Amino acid sequence: MIIDCHYHLDTEMVPLDALIQSMDRHGINRVALIPRLNPPIYMNPLLAKIALPVFRHGLHRSSGWLHRAMTAMYRNNVKADGTVDLLGKRYEVFAQPPNQEVKDAVKAHPDRFSGWVFVNPAGPADPIAEIERSMGQAGMIGVKAHPYWHNYPVRLLETAAAWCEQHDQPMLIHLGAGENGDFKFLPDQFPRLKILYAHAGIPESAAVCALAGERKNVFVDLSSSSYVDFQTARDAVKRAGAGKCLFGSDGPYFHVQDQTFDFSCQRKMVEKIGLPDPDLKRVLSQNFLELCGLAG
Ligand SMILES: [Zn+2]
Repeated sequence: MIIDCHYHLDTEMVPLDALIQSMDRHGINRVALIPRLNPPIYMNPLLAKIALPVFRHGLHRSSGWLHRAMTAMYRNNVKADGTVDLLGKRYEVFAQPPNQEVKDAVKAHPDRFSGWVFVNPAGPADPIAEIERSMGQAGMIGVKAHPYWHNYPVRLLETAAAWCEQHDQPMLIHLGAGENGDFKFLPDQFPRLKILYAHAGIPESAAVCALAGERKNVFVDLSSSSYVDFQTARDAVKRAGAGKCLFGSDGPYFHVQDQTFDFSCQRKMVEKIGLPDPDLKRVLSQNFLELCGLAG
């Protein structure tokens, strides 16, 4: 069984029926949907091919000036007016991503989709109200937060984290830089809270994966070919352990063609690590099922 723990529902990029067809074509049994937080993103493939390897290497594996430069770029992609800059193109960031779209998709296809509820403590909607409106629905499996693009310190997630810890629901968090990327705050404050850091814990992947190796309730996902390459995934498994890493795509971004999504890039990357079968099974599905309390 293969479960994608990290996919953004954007039916303009990939309609729902095309998404299910894409899942069938690539052997993906279930996808955990995240509400979209931006209009469709189509990167210039040539620019991405040149720039992203430097970005990933600088952020994940170099030290010194290149690491500092790439960390500064990561931080400075988020603009004060609430937009983000991706390789020179500006995108709006929705202050409150549309949870209802994910709830509707999960309701329509409970056998194929699970859903994350998106909260933004710096946005117009109260996180607890969003959580309580959504988490009662069958198939909603946890809370997603994006202190990076929503540009707020991680500590603002305190009330949402307290709710999740109390109700034993996981949080999926895409960290920013500086206080927006304080990856120790929540594990220290809420040791029983299950935390899944997106994209191998970017931008501090080595330290975040090491923490995941130490703390029972800290996990990382291996999603996004723009953030996580083969070496980063292999290092993540080495540092965090196969029991702490989850397969994900970050679709529909980067691998969309004719309104279908190609899951094979991140899947092949994970398979290439060469894990023994039981460990591969953990990464591809078992860890997700245990994290979300769905393991039989
Ligand atoms: Zn994402």
